[in-house]
Amino acid sequence: MNKGILFVLSGPSGVGKNTVLDELFKEFDGVSYSVSATTREARNGEIEGEDYFFISEDKFKEISADNGFIESALVHGHYYGTPKKFVDKKLSEGEDIILEIDTQGAKQVREKYPDAVYIFLLPPSLEELEHRLDKRGSENNKAKNIRLENARKELKEVHNYDYEVINDSLSKAVSEIKKIIIAEQKRRDQD
Ligand code: 5GP
Repeated sequence: MNKGILFVLSGPSGVGKNTVLDELFKEFDGVSYSVSATTREARNGEIEGEDYFFISEDKFKEISADNGFIESALVHGHYYGTPKKFVDKKLSEGEDIILEIDTQGAKQVREKYPDAVYIFLLPPSLEELEHRLDKRGSENNKAKNIRLENARKELKEVHNYDYEVINDSLSKAVSEIKKIIIAEQKRRDQD
């Protein structure tokens, strides 16, 4: 049996990664989502175990010390990590997984999972990204500026990714990501 494919989706905060993935999962179940752990507080409407595992900093450090994350990073002042057990189990069972992680985390994954497929979701422009962060309204001005500053840094990493998808139209971005996943799965199945 072939091992599963690990897909990694990155892109600056506010670009719409979650919305794109939510839409994708409504129409496509060919890939499973890996739920990350984070030390940030849950936003309104976020569900424990579905959006994130919301844990304390002590717990995060404990899991990290036990090598329980395949990657982890400090993003916008909070820790985020991808639980190792779930990912490795699914991949060894031949199931494909998608991670939604920042560029620092993607760098770590690249060293450990060289065959993973890397997709970067781009905003149409930085102005549009700022507009989307304003609309989201979950950020105060300081937090928003940190996210914009990080976005500029993250956008410089795009050349390390296999695919670039511009999120100017939600349905187009979803369809492009779906096509990438299906093409990679076909390629794997032909090997
Ligand atoms: P948010 O707090 O807006 O949900 O996510 C903030 C940033 O953290 C996003 O860029 C998201 O991709 C990233 N992120 C979410 N989960 C993980 C993770 O497990 N590891 C890493 N490195 N970044 C993550």
